[in-house]
Amino acid sequence: MKIGEMKKTTVIGAGTMGAQIAEVLSRMGGYEVNLVDINDDLVKKGLQSIDARLERFFVSKGKLTPEEKKNIVNRIKGSTSIEEASKGADLVIEAALEKMALKKEIFKKLDESAPARAILASNTSYLNISEMASATQRPEKVVGIHFFNPVAVMQLVEVVRGGRTSNETIETACDVAKALGKEPVVCRDISYGFLANRAYRAMVEEATQMVWERVASPEEIDKALKLGYNLPMGPLELADMVGGWAIRVSSEEDAMRELGAEKGRLHPLTRAMVRAGYMKIYEYWKDVLSKP
Ligand code: NAD
Repeated sequence: MKIGEMKKTTVIGAGTMGAQIAEVLSRMGGYEVNLVDINDDLVKKGLQSIDARLERFFVSKGKLTPEEKKNIVNRIKGSTSIEEASKGADLVIEAALEKMALKKEIFKKLDESAPARAILASNTSYLNISEMASATQRPEKVVGIHFFNPVAVMQLVEVVRGGRTSNETIETACDVAKALGKEPVVCRDISYGFLANRAYRAMVEEATQMVWERVASPEEIDKALKLGYNLPMGPLELADMVGGWAIRVSSEEDAMRELGAEKGRLHPLTRAMVRAGYMKIYEYWKDVLSKP
């Protein structure tokens, strides 16, 4: 499957990432998109979020006309059936929950229902592409296409090569990323967290340790990293913004299972904070840690 032949796409999961990916596939790529979730309410919620984002960030700023928005929205159809939604697809991007068993189940279904030509991609942040590919009869067409949140803004797409992914599939995945206005970077799936998240894990973990030691407040630590390394945002405020703390608990538990206990990087502070119902380290600092 080459980019020029591609018309129909399917996105599995209409949550945070799936809805945004569906939006760029339609807005930037001009593709038809079937957006799938497990029930009508979640599909509707996903479609509404697309409409609201297009209105807020594009139409109200004069970047799209109401007519252009209507065309973008009309190219995206909701569905609750993976089989129906992937029947005519040239490209499927899976953006369901970060659970290997679920992803393998979805890839098996997709392999049975999507045309033989279709590329089956996952937006996974950490999980192994080869393992997902093993649930299919077409491992050469299985690839990671990892977008970053917020999808409309972030330039990076990691194209992740599984053990059997063909060069043609990698090339097409890179072309898709470029057609959506992104910069692809290719890496192998043997790296837990691929490129950006793997290095970010180390940075956020060390920053968390500094908060734990009360070396400085989260704000000051972020300020030091922003100004010292020319980062647009500090690692702690970024995790606060994208709901990263709860994700860190589950992804580090996966990392320990995948790589062995010594490779897990979950600071006790992260677990304590999430258990106490705090999803923002700035708030946890203010309410709990800054007090004697
Ligand atoms: P989310 O929880 O917001 O959305 C996941 C959606 O998948 C939910 O609506 C859920 O109902 C749906 N779903 C579950 N099982 C399904 C099934 N069998 N069929 C169809 N839909 C199903 O999660 P998210 O944050 O959008 O993450 C999705 C994927 O993207 C994960 O693999 C995650 O690691 C990855 N990712 C997330 C981010 C982020 O910042 N949130 C960034 C990059 C990558």
